Amino acid sequence: MSIAQNLAHINTQLSGSDARLIAVTKTKPIGDLQEAYEAGARIFGENKVQEMVAKWEILPKDIEWHLIGHLQSNKVKYMASFVSMIHSVDSLRLLEEINKQALKHNRIIDCLLQIFIAQEETKFGLSEDEALELALSAEFAELKNIRITGVMGMASNTEDETQIRKEFKGLKIFSDKLKLQTSSIDNIDLKEISMGMSGDYLIAIEEGATLVRVGSAIFGSRNYQ
Ligand SMILES: *Cc1c(COP(=O)(O)O)cnc(C)c1O
Repeated sequence: MSIAQNLAHINTQLSGSDARLIAVTKTKPIGDLQEAYEAGARIFGENKVQEMVAKWEILPKDIEWHLIGHLQSNKVKYMASFVSMIHSVDSLRLLEEINKQALKHNRIIDCLLQIFIAQEETKFGLSEDEALELALSAEFAELKNIRITGVMGMASNTEDETQIRKEFKGLKIFSDKLKLQTSSIDNIDLKEISMGMSGDYLIAIEEGATLVRVGSAIFGSRNYQ
């Protein structure tokens, strides 16, 4: 199937839900992104800043770029002028740097708190307690060029659908709890739940995802991460 056919198929599956599709384009050549763009895709996700910047420079400017991979503070400056959303925020220090760079461009950058929901040890993210503490901290309240618009999570890399569903359900419950506790905080406006990838986005939609991050089901498998 072509990229356009894959996109059409996934968009049909998403229709009727609240979820928007992020086409995860990491490692894929510009031609693939152009094909997706021509087929109507306007939200692209990348996990490396340099690669995202290189593609942003070439492609039409009505694309929303989402940074979905682990982010080092010293890379924020390269994308602060254009990034639409950063899904992988896992520390106050990183938020402070994003705030600083956003201020330079007179922007407010939307960020998601990445929450650790998987069983394995390898994934990045905050525990629920750490996320709550960060969101309620006086330091965070000072960051006027940041808006936390939701949470992001990656389920365990397993075939066990019951386990995956349980993890997505947990993230939704945590999102509701965080929303209640942060409703009076100016720079928090929770509405997004970013969860679900090629192998599990249908489960994620059923469990309340508003953003699904799908790569290989659109572009085919990657040779490297
Ligand atoms: C690569 C990646 C995806 C997409 O993975 P696929 O399995 O190819 O859909 C989603 N989220 C993150 C954070 C990624 O790094």
